Amino acid sequence: MAELLSGKIAAASWKAKIKQIVQERLAGGKSRPHLAAILVGNDPASSAYVRGKVRDCEEVGFESTLIHLPETATEAEVLREIQQLNANPGVSGYIVQLPLPKGIDDKRILLAIDPEKDVDGFHPDNVGRMALGLPTYLPATPYGVLLLMEHYGLSTEGKHAVIVGRSHIVGSPMSILLGRNGKLGNATATLTHSKTPNLAEMTKQADILVAAIGKPFYIKPEHVKPGAIVIDVGINRLDEKLVGDVDFDSVEPLASAITPVPGGVGLMTRVGLLMNTLRAADGRG
Ligand code: NDP
Repeated sequence: MAELLSGKIAAASWKAKIKQIVQERLAGGKSRPHLAAILVGNDPASSAYVRGKVRDCEEVGFESTLIHLPETATEAEVLREIQQLNANPGVSGYIVQLPLPKGIDDKRILLAIDPEKDVDGFHPDNVGRMALGLPTYLPATPYGVLLLMEHYGLSTEGKHAVIVGRSHIVGSPMSILLGRNGKLGNATATLTHSKTPNLAEMTKQADILVAAIGKPFYIKPEHVKPGAIVIDVGINRLDEKLVGDVDFDSVEPLASAITPVPGGVGLMTRVGLLMNTLRAADGRG
């Protein structure tokens, strides 16, 4: 039976460590990390994500500020909030919750964020720093996957990691982080996508298989090498339930370790954001 890589357990452990570090910071006269979030409109999923992030901040002792703008907010209004956050020395870092309502250009918003405060790690400056292995904020989901593997003492060095999905926020940075020369890197990373022929032939070679596709139960036993570590990033709504990209019930008996959905990578993404905010309190580096 595969070891269950529980995001719930790993996140609780990382949050306890972060809380301890915050207490030590405050005792040493240092600032309390402060995360701000801009939420535009009332998309239920986005509101729930932001509420979760605010709750996490309370749990670990960060200060948090939620700036909630109406659905009708203009791009200029969002940019004005961004300028204020950039200029506010009391805010360590901030995020702009995506997706933004139609009529607001995501790219212009992203480029307006001060890279020093871009705790989502999406600004091109930070993506470049990540690719070069320079100190920076890491995109929260792949960072969360690394923290999950670290919690469970799983090594990546010398392993073949196959990532399915090449989005800028998950698959692509996941392949860079696993493949780079550094902690929880040194894997041989193969990045696959919808144009990859014979996907199963590739994924079957994976010691570590990361699914970030957005298709419920897409990864089946024929995609998985016996003994593989299977990381399911997918979050798909199916019949009112959240399910992953991996067909858990049929893949689990083959794997050596596997993440559940829900209760897996999603919770670790939030830890990634907390870790970036903790870093931001002392400057990006
Ligand atoms: P995107 O839609 O941006 O990217 C999906 C990727 O999967 C694309 O690169 C696409 O290829 C690839 N793909 C689609 N179909 C296939 C296929 N049949 N075979 C191989 N590759 C395929 O999604 P995201 O990366 O944003 O998200 C992926 C999943 O992860 C979603 O379920 C999302 O909800 C979830 N997610 C979870 C998070 C968490 O915290 N756990 C955070 C963010 C996302 P191509 O580029 O060729 O189109």
